Amino acid sequence: MKIFNTQTRRKEEFKPIEPGKISMYVCGPTVYNLIHIGNARPMIVFDTFRRYMTHKGYEVNYVSNFTDVDDKIIKKANEENLPANEISERYIAECKKDMEGMNVMPATTHPKATEEIDGMIDMIGDLIEKDYAYPTSDGTVYYRTRKFKEYGKLSHKNLDDLESGHRSEGHALKVTGNSDKEDDFDFVLWKPKKEGEPAWKSPWCDGRPGWHIECSVMARKYLGKTIDIHAGGEDLIFPHHENEIAQSEAANGVPFANYWMHNGFLNIDNVKMSKSLGNFFTVRDIAEKYDLNVLRFFMLTAQYRSPLNFSADLMEAAKSSLARICTAVEHLDFLMKNASAEAMTDEEKENEAKAAEFITRFDDAMDDDLNTADAISVIFELVKFVNMTALESSSKEYLASLKEKIVLLTDILGIKVEKKEELLDADIEALIEERQAARKAKDFKRADEIRDELSAKGIILEDTRAGVKWKRAD
Ligand SMILES: [Zn+2]
Repeated sequence: MKIFNTQTRRKEEFKPIEPGKISMYVCGPTVYNLIHIGNARPMIVFDTFRRYMTHKGYEVNYVSNFTDVDDKIIKKANEENLPANEISERYIAECKKDMEGMNVMPATTHPKATEEIDGMIDMIGDLIEKDYAYPTSDGTVYYRTRKFKEYGKLSHKNLDDLESGHRSEGHALKVTGNSDKEDDFDFVLWKPKKEGEPAWKSPWCDGRPGWHIECSVMARKYLGKTIDIHAGGEDLIFPHHENEIAQSEAANGVPFANYWMHNGFLNIDNVKMSKSLGNFFTVRDIAEKYDLNVLRFFMLTAQYRSPLNFSADLMEAAKSSLARICTAVEHLDFLMKNASAEAMTDEEKENEAKAAEFITRFDDAMDDDLNTADAISVIFELVKFVNMTALESSSKEYLASLKEKIVLLTDILGIKVEKKEELLDADIEALIEERQAARKAKDFKRADEIRDELSAKGIILEDTRAGVKWKRAD
């Protein structure tokens, strides 16, 4: 398996620290709103990487955090007059629903920043002791960026270039308002609380951690001082991941991550997605129009490092492409019902061997820095081969082996190609009866739940004078 390592800017053969195991950290979302489709890309891409490596026999320890303390969360909490943790808990739950819809597996561990404050205070204290950080008079603790000699090694920036850049542009690195700050490049590890903000006790002041420190602490706690892979969107390379390296390597004295993987940007109709441009889509917006399986498939039609353009037309195209795979599987199911249990003919055996070559080619594409675009092309070639050879076959064994191959490959990508199980008429009627009983007992919550459950499975209820009628949605 070759992985493009952002730090070395080369494709490298992947060698795990411990044979057969992978420790992987993926930066997760800040939970103050429904996740948008830009957040969805790293979730889908790195979930696919995890599924593929699991298929290759690795045991993947996958850690992805929820940033649940942040200015945006606090702002939203104040707007809604609620405690910040109610906002973050709400959007963690919503995020998990979206992940499930996109068939993104839950991480091995999903740590939350607010539950790891002690570890952050420890690491900050350690950095102060090692002289890589310093508290100022108001209790803010800064990281002494220039002291970390390798700063910039991931993003390939150097401080002198950055300095001239930010003098002229007022670069975002510059944090003003604290005269005790030694250098413009120093970044915040701990900041004092302001009125109406959640805060924790620390040796420096009551306050809260900066964003970067949480990932360094969680990666070490759940995966160790040196991890195999650190991943995230390319917008995180600088400064977030650069700062994580500075913190972790200064504190631990060993390399932080052996491979850095970053996914490319997602654009909408070829322009950057932004709320102000009105081209902003949450995953929930997409779910109103499409099965999220289509969104996942669409995202994987590009190699993860390429920029990905999202548009209504491209989603429609993805939907019909995916339908071609589903139709082939459906067709095989149909043929299998009437097929015989006879052994395969020599021709079928030969064809089965040919079909197996598609699996090798799929693996080759995935081994080349997770080239899902090429891997999907291979699936389409397999589908074409299936459509060409299946009709002439009456061997159940042969047809089943074809279906198995399509399902194997689409499963690795986390794409579902088999029809959802349909409810039997008797089950539907039993649920309707239960709903009627719940309504009689004034248990409207349960009654609504049943209605939702049925509607999720495509059953539409209609309350009429003559009683409840139902039909299947088209
Ligand atoms: Zn992070």
